[in-house]
Amino acid sequence: MKNDSGRTIVIVGGVAGGASAATRARRCNEDARIIMYEKDSYVSFANCGLPYYIGGEIEERDDLLVARPELFRNRFNIEVHTLCEVTAIDRAAQTVSVQNRQTGVTTLQSYDRLILAVGASPIVPPISGADAPNVFTLRNLEDTDRIKQFVKEKKPQRAVVVGAGFIGLEMVEQLRRGGIQTAVVELMEQVLPPLDAEMAHQIQQALEQHDVELHLGDGLAGFRVADAMATGVKLNSGGVLDADLVILGIGVRPNTKLAEQAGLELGPMRGIRVNEHMQTSDPYIYAVGDAVEYQHGVLGTPARVPLAGPANRAGRLAGQHAATDEAPPMAPVLGTAIVRVFEKTAAMTGLSVKLARKVGREARAAVVVAKHHAGYFPGGEAMTLKLIYEPTTGKVLGAQGVGGAGVDKRIDVIATAIHFGATVGDLAGLDLAYAPPYGSAKDPVHMAAFAACNDLAGLTPLCPLDKDLSGRQIVDVRTDAEVSKMRLPNAKHIPVDQLRERLEELDASRPTVTVCHSGLRAHVAARILRQHGFDDVADLTGGMFVRQHAKPAEIIRGEGD
Ligand SMILES: Cc1cc2nc3c(=O)[nH]c(=O)nc-3n(C[C@H](O)[C@H](O)[C@H](O)COP(=O)(O)OP(=O)(O)OC[C@H]3O[C@@H](n4cnc5c(N)ncnc54)[C@H](O)[C@@H]3O)c2cc1C
Repeated sequence: MKNDSGRTIVIVGGVAGGASAATRARRCNEDARIIMYEKDSYVSFANCGLPYYIGGEIEERDDLLVARPELFRNRFNIEVHTLCEVTAIDRAAQTVSVQNRQTGVTTLQSYDRLILAVGASPIVPPISGADAPNVFTLRNLEDTDRIKQFVKEKKPQRAVVVGAGFIGLEMVEQLRRGGIQTAVVELMEQVLPPLDAEMAHQIQQALEQHDVELHLGDGLAGFRVADAMATGVKLNSGGVLDADLVILGIGVRPNTKLAEQAGLELGPMRGIRVNEHMQTSDPYIYAVGDAVEYQHGVLGTPARVPLAGPANRAGRLAGQHAATDEAPPMAPVLGTAIVRVFEKTAAMTGLSVKLARKVGREARAAVVVAKHHAGYFPGGEAMTLKLIYEPTTGKVLGAQGVGGAGVDKRIDVIATAIHFGATVGDLAGLDLAYAPPYGSAKDPVHMAAFAACNDLAGLTPLCPLDKDLSGRQIVDVRTDAEVSKMRLPNAKHIPVDQLRERLEELDASRPTVTVCHSGLRAHVAARILRQHGFDDVADLTGGMFVRQHAKPAEIIRGEGD
């Protein structure tokens, strides 16, 4: 490679990955000429903040503009050209064609290093009506302005959000905040498809509590259109949902056209293939962000992870490498993600049980229901934390959390542990900060890890939360009051504190599952039974609290629930 510090670095795309690459390149190489092209009007805006501006939670539009062209010029000596689209790459000549969208004039710009940070585009199904002025996707500030203006001027009463992924649900929350009656259509049987179903079910409840109408396992078949406006969303199931406003949030496709036309290789997931330095199949061209495939930290295979964290980190590393030919490698990504849905937070990292099953990876799960800080300290908010691990090695494969405060912290701790290849035993030994307003001496992360360790050691095997319990002796060790509210069919009810005295009511030779509210007392019960000659005893992980979300149809609800 040429070692020309006065090199020209051209960056295509000026938002998450591109802006990170540009500024890092400058910090590493004062002599380089750095040019950034952005086809739209704005660089370095906060994509992730767009829903909150639409809903009014972020009040000032200017707050979304993280860094303006003047800052890039004055502080970083970076040439920024907005409304300039790079339309072609000539790899042999090391030039890009740049079309000025205001003048229509195309010019050539040479490069020594080129960084593609071109992002992804929202998927719009090729259905008649999808181009109606009240059917929107949300990717950039222009989309945001259109939606915001439409809401202000037309005052829509009913909205339909198609797609219950992260952006879809953020929009649902913000539309409801504005008092708009909102329905969600999702092809999968659950919201937040990357989560396991019982975790997502808790988010569904939160949506319903906020009067959001859910149409799960149903898809967008078409639009009802009148006077060129969409007036309804037709469902695969045959119904039509009235709509004054439609948001399509059904995923994104990587912008690979430029790379493909230049003959750069794509990977198996149809993103741009890159190495650990974010170099494409042409070492003078880098690619970062939503357009590329990263290495998945658990699967070890290429994965598309269209999230801001990886885009920013990859941009930074590519910028450094482009500027100096040296940089640390990009670490594998885990798909760590988080979303707020009204009062609830849902977060995940690594593999779900669902994904593990899909890729044929053996996985077990321990689920705990815990307060985010010490129970005796006022204001503790409940969370469900699911820890997913490999049975043979105990390696942590993933985690999911749903609840109130503190879910973010637990998922980040576990993501960190996965990054370093931790086992559930390592998690059990983590020395975490504790004082009553912040956590518990035995943190939910520890509790989940303890349960996983007990499971793997055979001390108390965990019964999967969605397992068919028929044929097993089910021992429900909750109190009378708890059982009267919510029952499992065919369970023998013996409160844990009476278990030792009432052992003769049970059959020690039968496979047995102990059940309580969250799994903790069931663990105690399982230990009692095991030490009284019951050889095959498992504890229903997550207890009735999670079972009601995993198998809601099975639960018999009583008075006062
Ligand atoms: C509404 C919304 C909310 C989100 N919330 C979160 C969140 O909470 N957490 C999270 O982790 N992620 C979130 N994301 C995802 C995150 O914003 C993206 O993963 C990240 O921005 C990707 O960075 P990027 O640089 O690859 O692409 P982008 O940031 O999209 O930038 C790509 C830029 O390239 C420009 N471009 C494309 N082609 C050309 C060309 N040929 N010439 C010139 N310019 C070009 C585009 O106009 C675009 O501005 C959200 C995304 C959206 C849309």
